[in-house]
Amino acid sequence: SGTGSGGGAGTATDTRFGSDPTGVELSAISLPRIVVVGSQSTGKSSVLEAIVGRDLLPRGRDIVTRCPLVLQLRHVPPSDRSQEERAIFSHAPMRLYRPHEYPEVIKEIEAETRRITRGTHSLSSKPIYLTVCAPRLVNLTLVDLPGLTKIAVGDQPTDIEQQSRNMALDFISQPSTLILAVSAANVDIANSEALNLARQVDPTGERTIGLLTKVDLMEVGSDALPILRGETVPLRLGFVPVVNRSQQDIQNGLAIGASISRERVFFSDHPSYRGLRDVCGTPFLAAYLSKLLEHSIRNQLPKIEDEILQHVAILQERLRRAGSLSPVPSDPLEQSQLLLSLLSDFSQSVSNAINGYVDAS
Ligand code: GDP
Ligand code: MG
Repeated sequence: SGTGSGGGAGTATDTRFGSDPTGVELSAISLPRIVVVGSQSTGKSSVLEAIVGRDLLPRGRDIVTRCPLVLQLRHVPPSDRSQEERAIFSHAPMRLYRPHEYPEVIKEIEAETRRITRGTHSLSSKPIYLTVCAPRLVNLTLVDLPGLTKIAVGDQPTDIEQQSRNMALDFISQPSTLILAVSAANVDIANSEALNLARQVDPTGERTIGLLTKVDLMEVGSDALPILRGETVPLRLGFVPVVNRSQQDIQNGLAIGASISRERVFFSDHPSYRGLRDVCGTPFLAAYLSKLLEHSIRNQLPKIEDEILQHVAILQERLRRAGSLSPVPSDPLEQSQLLLSLLSDFSQSVSNAINGYVDAS
């Protein structure tokens, strides 16, 4: 698993993404997923929010995303009344957030980020898991990473640029991962950090989807057609252009739904994009990503199954050896504590693996 490049990411006590308390790396199970990479302010959060259709991510000028956010979107049938829209964190599964409570989801992401980074401004590779279920959503799991930064602010470590790159590389190196490489259309695509990073792990562009944001901000007279046609950077899965809310729009209180209608009008009215309007914009992006992920999962199911079985075997072996080899404490209380912790590690690992497996399928 991985490339071994993860050493730079996270704090000293942090292990790699996916490590679990038993010390067995669950990231060894290569569940297909989509990882979002891009420089700060390219519009990563904006596009995620547009896909969810809700304001539920923290925003701010400084680097607000300091640990990975695994956003799991789940479609629920509209007929089922008990399945009304809700959001749940894995770290606090008893609390269920209804849409009118989403401002608290934002606060909880910030609070959990502070807990994970222990109040510092450094990055951590330990993810926050947030699941949103709603009838309008497609099934999709997206990992939002800290933006690729250039400049350390405040008490951020000076190697923050290296940290964010290492973390991104670590997440996208797994061959089953789809890379959503975000670039702003108003910046020369040759300078795109996201595409440069994606190229390092996917040189032939087999599993990278190009996302072009801020298409509305391109110079008058120029358009993204050469990029969309693959003449600039060849990607097998292509580029999708989107238009999201500007800072001004947000200040003016433009709702996400209104922004998506405006985006549709933008692409269908624009002389350059009119002919491509069915493959432009956020709703197309969400459907396309969902289909790609489904396809990738279907292709890899036998492999995933094997990996889970191998994992269960490893854990069973550990449990067996822990029982026979390690010095068993003589104190009955310690004995029962040891047994309890072994059992809970074991069941946690298995349930993590199975959850990931079920989520992915
Ligand atoms: P992130 O740092 O990559 O998560 O970027 P954000 O989503 O926070 O966006 C950075 C800024 O760009 C915000 O002020 C957004 O409102 C603005 N923005 C994002 N996408 C677009 C877009 O498509 N068009 C315009 N005009 N502004 C955008
Ligand atoms: Mg962001």
